[in-house]
Amino acid sequence: MENLWSDTDAQNYIDQFTTNEVNQDVSLRVYTSRLLGGEPKLVLHGGGNTSVKTVMPDMLGQDTEVLCVKGSGWDLGDIEPPGLPAVRLEPIRQLSALSALSDEGMVNAQRINLLDASAPNPSVETLLHAFLPHKFVDHTHANAVLALTDQEGGDEICQEVFGDRMGYVPYIMPGFDLAKKAKEVFENDPDVEGLILLKHGIFSFGETAQESYGRMIEMVSIAETEIEKRRLRNFSGVDLPAQLACATEIAPVLRGLCALDTEAGTQRLVMDFRTNDAIVAFTGGDGIGRYSQQGTVTPDHVIRTKPNPLIVPAPVAGKLDEFAADACTAVEKYIADYHAYFARNNKSQATPKTELDPMPRVILVPGVGLFGLGK
Ligand SMILES: [Zn+2]
Repeated sequence: MENLWSDTDAQNYIDQFTTNEVNQDVSLRVYTSRLLGGEPKLVLHGGGNTSVKTVMPDMLGQDTEVLCVKGSGWDLGDIEPPGLPAVRLEPIRQLSALSALSDEGMVNAQRINLLDASAPNPSVETLLHAFLPHKFVDHTHANAVLALTDQEGGDEICQEVFGDRMGYVPYIMPGFDLAKKAKEVFENDPDVEGLILLKHGIFSFGETAQESYGRMIEMVSIAETEIEKRRLRNFSGVDLPAQLACATEIAPVLRGLCALDTEAGTQRLVMDFRTNDAIVAFTGGDGIGRYSQQGTVTPDHVIRTKPNPLIVPAPVAGKLDEFAADACTAVEKYIADYHAYFARNNKSQATPKTELDPMPRVILVPGVGLFGLGK
């Protein structure tokens, strides 16, 4: 992954954003946050978070140590200084002395320490940023890192690949417990350049915006090189019909089958079709039933794609009725599986969740390509 840092751009951000209220640290924080947010292999819209520890005047004009951390509702790709609300650092740092803190307690502690009462809620990962001593802290859900950790033996693979340059934090849901664990891992080896949050993502940190960003890009590049080494070069394809129906013929069939029953009547989803050599190879691989159903690498994806795509049979040219019948069976099974998936996971929730509609958001058509669906 290319390191896009530029001294000229950094200076331009300082010139553009620094005012009486916004200091240079925050301007540089905006700059590298946007570099991360502009790369979908690091974060999708709204995902990831960044912070900088700096000094700002409080209401009385007294210099106060604060953590400026991404606020909810902001996207790293086009973040501005108001998207990095300032939280008094010392009081939230002291929370690490507690043995437990609920999500509500954590949000409250963060809000009552905001310098600006109208600021957005600081990120759910704020305490993790606060408990680390570094000036700049960057966090992404990089695909390449997740490709290494999100598999059997992923913990060992990561330790082998990154060695003692990184610390390793076991999977814990974001919140107070994760922040405390990350602090403990860091303090066991304060020389690390970042943390791998197993099955979650990666933190990098440094004394400057450039250092923290550079470490993120370097670690992701190391992960990318490792994946390239392990890539299967020759996986075999399924036998496809000699003549395939085309996307325009099957799209109306699939769109009809995936229409939603709503109180206002039938709602059809909008479909978008993509294909290229890589997609055709993926949809036509003989392991598609396994590798396409592994689940997403991060919740950044699951909110857009559902946990799994729907696979329909390869459509034979001139036999659309047959395709429609098979696709109907596949959609019915998808719906049943989705209900079961929701019920299974909802059982373990303290507060019951509301189930979404059961229709797929991605459909894979062997030999043809993939459809994305959305309201
Ligand atoms: Zn995260």
